[in-house]
Amino acid sequence: AGAAEPPPKLVLDLERLTQLPTDKGGPLQRYAATIQSQRGDYNGKVLSIRQDDLRTLAVIYDLSPSVLTEQLIGWGVLDADARRAVQAEES
Ligand code: C2E
Ligand code: C2E
Ligand code: C2E
Repeated sequence: AGAAEPPPKLVLDLERLTQLPTDKGGPLQRYAATIQSQRGDYNGKVLSIRQDDLRTLAVIYDLSPSVLTEQLIGWGVLDADARRAVQAEES
């Protein structure tokens, strides 16, 4: 990617998120529901979240942001592009 390109967004797949078992997806499901409620944004199939929110979620899951990102990509909740968003953040 060129230097002038903005970092990719973190976009949650909400349909995939609802399919996750609660023991894995529960904290993220509650977090996303809170953001939807604060924005009044209930109709989307996806939800764009803040870089800051991924850091908060990493604390909740007791993982580093990059390891959590890999986890979420593995679950199909984030797409592989999210990797670059987190790298941009940590570099
Ligand atoms: P706030 O942080 O004071 O933001 C007020 C309004 O500024 C937001 O209203 C939105 O219209 C706009 N805004 C702020 N940051 C962005 C941004 O990065 N992109 C865009 N497009 N607009 C932005 P909104 O959406 O109704 O949200 C109301 C409040 O809900 C926010 O107040 C914030 O406290 C909370 N909130 C909403 N979305 C998020 C989120 O993704 N993460 C977190 N941590 N809080 C959020
Ligand atoms: P994009 O960011 O690539 O988003 C593509 C589509 O994904 C959006 O089409 C919308 O249907 C969905 N989407 C992405 N994030 C969210 C979300 O947090 N909630 C919901 N409900 N849907 C989401 P849409 O709305 O027609 O927007 C088309 C393009 O317009 C966006 O492409 C983006 O480039 C721009 N755009 C729309 N809203 C905002 C915004 O709040 N901030 C900025 N900077 N651009 C926006
Ligand atoms: P976006 O709207 O395209 O914004 C991209 C980046 O521009 C944001 O990354 C943030 O760094 C900055 N930005 C945009 N608007 C504001 C603002 O009002 N206040 C501040 N302090 N910064 C702003 P970030 O934070 O990682 O957010 C990523 C995406 O998450 C945003 O893309 C937007 O789609 C969504 N988002 C974040 N916060 C809110 C919010 O409060 N309301 C809504 N509706 N969407 C939000």
